[in-house]
Amino acid sequence: TPVIGVLALQGDVREHLIALATADAVARPVRRPEELAEVDGLVVPGGESTTISKLAHLFGVMEPLRARVRDGMPVYGTCAGMIMLADKILDPRSGQETVGGIDMIVRRNAFGRQNESFEASVAVRGVDGDPVEGVFIRAPWVESVGADVEVLAEHEGHIVAVRQGNALATSFHPELTGDHRIHALFVEMVRAKGASGSL
Ligand code: GLN
Repeated sequence: TPVIGVLALQGDVREHLIALATADAVARPVRRPEELAEVDGLVVPGGESTTISKLAHLFGVMEPLRARVRDGMPVYGTCAGMIMLADKILDPRSGQETVGGIDMIVRRNAFGRQNESFEASVAVRGVDGDPVEGVFIRAPWVESVGADVEVLAEHEGHIVAVRQGNALATSFHPELTGDHRIHALFVEMVRAKGASGSL
C-alpha cells in the first residue's frame, strides 16, 4: 500500500487525509524533511499559497520538496497546491516562491471577485464516468502550459486540471466532495511509480 503524505503547513489537510484513505492509501501529515523522506507521494492542499510558501521555508521543507519533485516523486496539488506546483506565477506576491514541477504559468484568484466560489461539473480526462463536481474557491486557472504538459480539464475555456509526468494539479477541490476518483487516480500514479520497488 502506498504511503502518501499531505503537506500539513496550512490549508485543508484533514479532508485530503480522509480522501486518500478512502482511495486505499496510507495517508499521513508531512511537516518536516524527515517526514517527507518517508512518503511515496505527496498532496499539496488548498489554502493560501503565500502562507504555505512562507511556512515551507520556515519548516525547512522547501528545498527537500523541490529535490524530491525533481527526482520524480508523485505530487498532486489542489488550488493553492496547484499554484505551488507551477514553475511560474503570473502575479506573485512579492517574495512568493513555488516548488515548481509543472511547466505552466498560473493566475491566482483568476475566476474573479463576483465568482470567488462556485461549483461546476468538470469532465476530467482519465476519470471515467460522470464529470466530477468541481468546487472552486478563489481558484487559480492555468494561463499557459509547455509542450510536455497534458491538459486534463477546462472550464469555460480556461485550463483547470493538468498533468506533467508524475505531477498532477487541479484548480478545484475534489477533497471537499464525497467523490474521490481524482484521489484514486493519484494513488494509481503513486502505485505505478513504485511498481518496480517495494510498494
Ligand atoms: N487564492 C488562494 C491562493 O492564491 C487559493 C485558494 C484555495 O486554495 N482555495 O493561494
